Order: sequence, then C-alpha cells, then structure tokens
Amino acid sequence: MVDLKTQYQRIKTEVDAAISEVLESTQFIKGPAVKKFEDNFARYLGTKDVISCANGTDALQIAMMALGYQPGDEVITASFTYVATAEVIALLKLKPVLVEVNPDTFTIDPAAIEAAITPKTKAIVPVHLFGQAADMEAIMKIAAKHGLHVIEDNAQATGADITLSNGRKVKAGTIGTVGTTSFFPSKNLGCFGDGGALFTNDDALAKKIRIVSNHGQTQQYVHDEIGVNSRLDTIQAAILDVKLKYLDEYAAKRRAVADFYDNAFKDIKNVQTPVRAPYSTHVFHQYTLLLHETNREDVRNKLSERGIPSMIYYPIPLHLQKAYKDSRYKEGAFPVTEHLCKSVISLPIHTEFEPEQLDYIQENFRKIVQS
Ligand SMILES: *Cc1c(COP(=O)(O)O)cnc(C)c1O
Repeated sequence: MVDLKTQYQRIKTEVDAAISEVLESTQFIKGPAVKKFEDNFARYLGTKDVISCANGTDALQIAMMALGYQPGDEVITASFTYVATAEVIALLKLKPVLVEVNPDTFTIDPAAIEAAITPKTKAIVPVHLFGQAADMEAIMKIAAKHGLHVIEDNAQATGADITLSNGRKVKAGTIGTVGTTSFFPSKNLGCFGDGGALFTNDDALAKKIRIVSNHGQTQQYVHDEIGVNSRLDTIQAAILDVKLKYLDEYAAKRRAVADFYDNAFKDIKNVQTPVRAPYSTHVFHQYTLLLHETNREDVRNKLSERGIPSMIYYPIPLHLQKAYKDSRYKEGAFPVTEHLCKSVISLPIHTEFEPEQLDYIQENFRKIVQS
C-alpha cells in the first residue's frame, strides 16, 4: 500500500545525518530539533503554535483535556472514521455523539451536526478523511452559532489547502479551535515510529496544551492539574524536519497517482472514483473507490493473486463495534456510513511508483472489476 523503503532511500543522506546529530548530542528528550521542527511546521501551516506529542491519538486526547471538558459533556464526531477519534472521547468519559457523513466526500455532514446539538454539546470533531478537509466553513458557522469548539482531526490531511468563500487559502487543521495530527509512518508526513502534534492560534490554549502534555506541570514539580506524559522524541522531530521540506512534493506525487487512477477508471460503470470537494485540495492519504453491486472480497482476492494489495478503510462502522455499542445506535442508524463500510476499497497510493507499477495495477483492477 505504501513504499516507505524507497522514500527513505531517496533522502537517506539527509535523514541519517539528522539522526546522527541527535545521537551525538544524546538529547533524546526535548532536544533542540523538537523546537526547530515545531517552529518550521507552524510556519508551514501558517498557525501560531505547534505543540508536538507522542502520537495522533494523544493529540486528540490532550486537546479535549486542555479544553476542560467534564464527564458527560457531549462531543460530536463522524460515524465514518478511524476508531481513535471516538476512543479518546469515550476514554475521557465524555459522550461520543456520532453523526452521518456525506456520501460523496465521506466527511462529516454539517446538517447532521446541527441536528445532533444539545445543551450538553461542547465540541465538534470533524475528521479530514482520506486526505481532504471536511466542509469547515459550514462547520465553523454552526460552531459559532452554538458556542462550540472545533477540534480538527487532521491525521490524514496534513498539507491540504482549504479555500474559503472569500478566496483566502488556509491549511486544513488551522481553522478550528485546535487541530491535531499524527506522524504515524504511513501518514502523509510520517516519522520513523510514533509521533503527533496539535496546532492552534490561541496562545492561552497553546500554553494549556503544553502543561497538559507534560504531567499538568506549571513549574518543575508543581502540578496544577492531572496531565499526561506525551512527547515527540528528538530523533523523530529531526526526521520530520527533513521530511517536512518534501511534503508538498509528496502531495503532488500522490495527486498525480490519483489523477492517473481517476482517468483509468472513469468509464467503469460499477466503480465510483473519489469525489473532490470544491473547498479543499486532496492530498490523497488514501485512494478510496466505491464498488457498486460488486463482490468486494472477490475483487480483493483476485487483486491479491496478482500481487496487488488493497485495504478496506473501514470495514465496520463505529456504532456497530462491540466497544462502542450504544442503545442510541442500532444497525441502520447511519445508512450512508454503513453503505460506505460495505462498498469502499482503497488501492495502493504513495510517492514512489514506477509508471509500470501503476499500469499493472490499473490494467488488472479494470479487468477484475469488469469481469
Ligand atoms: C492515524 C489516525 C489517528 C491516530 O493517530 P496515531 O498516531 O496512530 O495515534 C487519529 N485519527 C485519524 C483519522 C487517523 O487516521
């Protein structure tokens, strides 16, 4: 699905030098590379503050802790997402309120958000799924009207640009109260292990986030609240600082692969290629198609026989997962999400394809789905 080996080989000299520098310094925790990367990433995103942490799940949790939610507070998020989004809500004893997604873009449906708001609602967590942003302008309008925070789960869309109706362009993850991301190796900006970050333009919130992510510590050995221990290793920061320079080039390469697939599959009746939202660029964390009236397992098996990997993101909707069972949500509660879970298939997409590889995938996929 990804080719991290070739990607590493291309930047090996730079990355190895950066790692080596950290090894020589032995400042493995909070070394200078951490601050340097945070500053460079903030500049890239056009946001005031970036606070790094241990992974993208922690980033979401830290955001909700820093915003001071109390048990029973409601947090609205998409029914079609990776489990981490709902997990941290439940873990903090908040109430996850799932809402339906748009059938074309797969991102949270603003109308469904508005319908789910109650006096206990504190925040909306849109997920910028598969590489393009949710309809942030509509979401921000709803949030402003009801006095809610917006926590953007940007783990899959680092580098995507949102175009606002006044023509201004902003980076996904930087419009809400706070944005979060993951540097898991296969993410668009991935490190060589686990990593994550939060970004915000709110100075007071940034300060609070730093306190929460460092044991709730305000001065050394002074703890005003309960926090967590969540840091980005210096080695990972040094690697990310190198890779950040290539992020836009990587996005362009992914987009070129998506364009190639789009063109190859556009006339196949039972295949729907990804719909690109007008308000966001797509950085194609995943290239996810819909298969209509097709035996998906059969397609996957035949692809696999020809050495072509495929994945299902995500096979089981959150509301039908054992851990998240809730009397509010029975089977049929989210027909779009349930349909997507049955129909999606993701093909390999990354930055290192040879043209022959893409041809091979395209040709075989076409043959298999049309047979
Ligand atoms: C990857 C991901 C996360 C979690 O990131 P980790 O670094 O693996 O903890 C959260 N939300 C979404 C949408 C993701 O894709």
